[in-house]
Amino acid sequence: THSAQPATSEPLTRPRRLVQYRDETACFVRIDPLTENLLGWTEEDLLGCSALDFIHPDDHDRGIQSWMEMLAGRSGVRYRLRFKTASGEWRWFEISNVNRLSDPEAGYVETEMVDVDDEMRALARVRTGELQFNTLTESLPVGVIQVDTDANLVFANGWIRRHTDFGVAGQSSHDNFLPVHPDDRESLERAFLAAVTAGERGDLDVRLSDISANTELVCRVRVRPLRTDDEINGAIASIEDITESASVQSQLRLQASTDHLTGLPNRATLHEGVQRLIDAGTGHDDGTSVAVLFIDLDGFKLVNDGLGHEAGDDVLVEVARRLSSTLRPDDFIARVGGDEFVIVCPWTRDIDDAAQLAERILEQLHQPYVTANTATSVGASIGIAMHDGTPTTADVLIGNADLAMYEAKHAGGSRWEPYGDQLRSTLTQRFELQRTISAAIANDEFSLYIQPIRNLKTGNAIAAECFVRWHHPTRGLVTPAQFIPEAERTDLIIALDRWILDDACRICARIVSQGGDDFRIAVNVSDRRLACPGFDSEFFETVERHGLKPSNLIVEVTETVFVDMEMAVMASLQAISRAGATLALDDFGTGVSSLNHLRLMPVTMLKIDTSFTADLEFDSSIGAIIKSMSDLSRQLGVELVVEGIETAKQHEMVKAMGVELGQGYLLGGPYDEATFFAELPGLLAATASTEPASG
Ligand code: C2E
Ligand code: MG
Ligand code: MG
Repeated sequence: THSAQPATSEPLTRPRRLVQYRDETACFVRIDPLTENLLGWTEEDLLGCSALDFIHPDDHDRGIQSWMEMLAGRSGVRYRLRFKTASGEWRWFEISNVNRLSDPEAGYVETEMVDVDDEMRALARVRTGELQFNTLTESLPVGVIQVDTDANLVFANGWIRRHTDFGVAGQSSHDNFLPVHPDDRESLERAFLAAVTAGERGDLDVRLSDISANTELVCRVRVRPLRTDDEINGAIASIEDITESASVQSQLRLQASTDHLTGLPNRATLHEGVQRLIDAGTGHDDGTSVAVLFIDLDGFKLVNDGLGHEAGDDVLVEVARRLSSTLRPDDFIARVGGDEFVIVCPWTRDIDDAAQLAERILEQLHQPYVTANTATSVGASIGIAMHDGTPTTADVLIGNADLAMYEAKHAGGSRWEPYGDQLRSTLTQRFELQRTISAAIANDEFSLYIQPIRNLKTGNAIAAECFVRWHHPTRGLVTPAQFIPEAERTDLIIALDRWILDDACRICARIVSQGGDDFRIAVNVSDRRLACPGFDSEFFETVERHGLKPSNLIVEVTETVFVDMEMAVMASLQAISRAGATLALDDFGTGVSSLNHLRLMPVTMLKIDTSFTADLEFDSSIGAIIKSMSDLSRQLGVELVVEGIETAKQHEMVKAMGVELGQGYLLGGPYDEATFFAELPGLLAATASTEPASG
């Protein structure tokens, strides 16, 4: 028999889909029981291993990129890559991730893997195997024709033979290639010639007379060059009957493809459009290329929450209008999310060209918006990605612009950022760092250093602040400035802060047991950690587990937490404060310092930043500020700590200003745990006459 039966058939019970559980560094933390059936790996094989080690090297970049997007909070990203099975072969899977790291019930990333290997291999076979090609094309409900290098027809499938009187091979394109409408003939021939001579792709709509029904069809023709190695061997075209849809379509299309609020095209249409531009190889020949600008509004949430959703909608409509007005005729704009827009510029000369547009957009969007009888303002963060001519997909190009936008947002917003080699290597490095942070938590590479906070009158230590240190196996002692900001970009900070609070409580319990009954331990807590649902209950649970009271804890937050604060975070902070914990405002004086925060929030301690103290001896205005802060804090009933006391002179000055509490190298620390406990008896029993140990 010459029918193309597969040699072996898979048992019907073989699963096609499974769900894996991984941590933030892509390491497996739990294994789906179906894994052994689908991949051949057992639980021991995978647990603790990074998924990256199982991904085909050619798919690494795509995998990392999607992982970063997902950690950054984008959802619904599906992509395909090759995964190694236990038998050593590569199979194609469709991957989609759901980030459930911050969900206390879960704490992992859920990764769905669907086996699409058969589909991917079938696609590859069709491209190369003539037998499969014929079998497939014969049954297709669209027309397929193939021409040789002179644009002579060499193949036409059943659909063509049924719908036209054209079935004989060997006919030249120049004599009635297909029974097309005379007005459409020239463009069709041009498309075929361009394919066989220059390797170009072409999509066009033509009218075709259908002899079987004696009517005229509207057909979408897609012409593709056929290449083997570096040679063009002809071209293939598919011909799809779009008559019925063509009339209704224009209407339907508009509905399904536009966003109701702004009337702009939506995400699906955008992706389609960008893919078409990439496929058509737009630009390049004349030195231009496709630029994608990903725009995300800054501070839109404030408008929505503060002025209501209707006002928010008004602003979005106005943004859409302003963006549209900045465009050149060939540019294309879409709304892809709540306050996210994408602009596509097909003929962009270079990054400067795109940057100019970005600057124009920033300026336009910055003008005030009048809505709900008030004027309000929003900014924007813009990421720019240029298509460099290498094969890529719309997903990747738009994804790159999105990553660059995220970078612009993180740098403070109201700016644009290009996606390029630099960002790419930053992202890779960051990914590496993040990957090692989570391994470091598991390997116990973090420890807390402890610095006493002293009563300046008595010299007694009444509290101590914990600073995290990383004992890196190769880099040595790493300070928080080198990794906290990176950890704060993702949910990794949550795991780290969780560990820090737990260890700080352990240390505090040790101090209490040595006679420091009312001693307080101060812990720095990141905004992202505070925003976790259930932060307060976890806080209470940890404190209690170590036999402490909330009043043994000082929670240090920075002013950034008050900007854009969610009600839930406010409630969380109020709960821990009401239970007796001290809420300290750290780095006071460096940021958006506003006395309003003191009025609205249960802040009971202010910490004056080290940078102030450093200038105290040289700048009398700083002395005046600290003096009045000291008076003010007494009136408000909040404690005041001056940080960074390094010299005896500074010590004298702040004491003379009536400042109650101090911290700094001169007063001791930060100590490692062993040293701290060696010093502890002296710290607790210091008297007014005893000068603090110099650090
Ligand atoms: P911060 O909370 O304001 O901490 C004060 C910083 O000043 C600490 O640096 C401390 O070691 C340092 N310092 C202490 N005495 C003196 C002094 O006399 N002079 C000067 N110039 N500096 C002094 P460190 O440990 O490098 O921490 C830097 C920042 O990193 C902290 O600022 C805090 O924002 C963050 N951080 C540190 N540990 C943690 C942590 O466990 N969790 C979180 N989320 N952030 C942390
Ligand atoms: Mg602090
Ligand atoms: Mg501080």
